[in-house]
Amino acid sequence: MGKFCEICGKGTLNGNLVSHSNRKTHTIWAPNVQNVRVMVNGASKRMNVCTACLRSGKVQRALPKTHATLEAEA
Ligand SMILES: [Zn+2]
Repeated sequence: MGKFCEICGKGTLNGNLVSHSNRKTHTIWAPNVQNVRVMVNGASKRMNVCTACLRSGKVQRALPKTHATLEAEA
């Protein structure tokens, strides 16, 4: 799973966790990126897309072919 979104370009942030005693621990925050099938110019494609882009409808999901759709095509 990728660490950046191929739609909005959102990537990792890094910084420190700071405890009450002021000790710093380096950390990296990654966006919630999912590898999903999306429709791009009429063709389905797997892309790494963050959940914010999925939720806001910036990509059109390519749903897997179900038994019903396969029967309709035949
Ligand atoms: Zn995104």
